[in-house]
Amino acid sequence: MNIVILGGGFGGLAAANELRQNLTQDTRIIIVDKKDWFMMDLVKLWIIAGSREFETSKKPLENVTKKGIEFINENVTKIDLQNKIVRTSYRRLHYDYLIISLGVELAPEQIPGLKENSLILYDLNDVPRIRDAIRNLKSGKLAMAITGLPYKCPPAPYEAALLIRSVLEEIGTSNSIQMDFYSPTPITLPAGGPQVSEDILQILKSKHIEFHGNCKTISVEQNKLKFESGEADFDLLIAVPPHKVPFVTVDCGLAQLGKFIEVNRTCRTKFDNVYAIGDVNQIMVTDKIAVPKAGIFAEGEGITVARNIISKIKKEAETATFDGKGGCYLEIGKKTAGYIRVDMYADPTPVTELKPPSTDSFAEKEKFEKERLEKWL
Ligand SMILES: Cc1cc2nc3c(=O)[nH]c(=O)nc-3n(C[C@H](O)[C@H](O)[C@H](O)COP(=O)(O)OP(=O)(O)OC[C@H]3O[C@@H](n4cnc5c(N)ncnc54)[C@H](O)[C@@H]3O)c2cc1C
Repeated sequence: MNIVILGGGFGGLAAANELRQNLTQDTRIIIVDKKDWFMMDLVKLWIIAGSREFETSKKPLENVTKKGIEFINENVTKIDLQNKIVRTSYRRLHYDYLIISLGVELAPEQIPGLKENSLILYDLNDVPRIRDAIRNLKSGKLAMAITGLPYKCPPAPYEAALLIRSVLEEIGTSNSIQMDFYSPTPITLPAGGPQVSEDILQILKSKHIEFHGNCKTISVEQNKLKFESGEADFDLLIAVPPHKVPFVTVDCGLAQLGKFIEVNRTCRTKFDNVYAIGDVNQIMVTDKIAVPKAGIFAEGEGITVARNIISKIKKEAETATFDGKGGCYLEIGKKTAGYIRVDMYADPTPVTELKPPSTDSFAEKEKFEKERLEKWL
């Protein structure tokens, strides 16, 4: 029996570990990833803040083999759902169960001029450049822009802005640098609702970061952002680009171009024994609200799918459903963070609330990373 997991990120690692702990060794659990390392995306913000380095933060995915999970470090090139085969750069893999946890790809090319005229916040290559650029900027206008929806970890761009402000305060340039934050949404965090959005707005204001809502970026020129309505000047632009699903998921018919793989709380696709978890999927909670793209939810979905596969193999009822509970930290600098608690399936509507920033929540954020790395790798 082969369980093949495409993607050794947040969702894939959570699923693989849950499966391995509950199935005998005659079931092969195979992770395929084009990268040979894992690092939580949240560390990118710590690299920008200067408290971490990529080289000492990444963990080898090969470590999963110590627990009896196989790892193939290759690119997935085709998913053949009819014949239950995944093709990678060098092999064909037959699967009995397939978990697709390939995440999203960044697509700055969708906005003309974005790549050429900004630094991309979520791109690992640009992260050290951002770290250096904010330190080299002595005065002027620093703009941050969300240029596509949905994007990973809705609070993360605000966290980045607050951490950058904190760095500027530390190095003494804060008073000479104007910070503006542009978003296509009318409020800061629609996924968090009006109250959490207002709380975040007030935190931004207290750090002299001006939020501009309803700014849908259509193109970027040298030192100029162009919106559907209006434009803005900048000296340095740090942007969250549009996201797209990996092409293999479109090519096999699971995702439509420009969309994500639509599943319900079981993460089952329309193909038998094929599941889509994490950022690659879209789970609608109401007709307007979807489960946010976050590691904590990719993890919850991975565990849900793993539990149902375990039940199916053991010929028991498949009863697991993704509970939509979790939360994200909102770091604001000086080892302090808020915590946004989320319950997507609370009755009658999703509940979110922001716990005010504290050093305790920052310590919990550090623990969040440490515990998972110890468990998974
Ligand atoms: C700056 C930042 C901060 C964040 N902070 C938080 C936070 O505090 N809390 C939180 O819960 N979430 C946070 N997130 C969001 C979180 O990182 C993602 O939601 C999470 O990684 C999604 O998990 P996933 O398994 O769906 O995808 P990923 O973790 O992205 O994993 C996908 C994997 O698939 C692999 N892959 C893709 N295509 C192929 C292919 N063709 N062949 C082989 N392998 C392939 C990739 O290499 C990757 O390893 C943050 C994100 C960012 C950018």
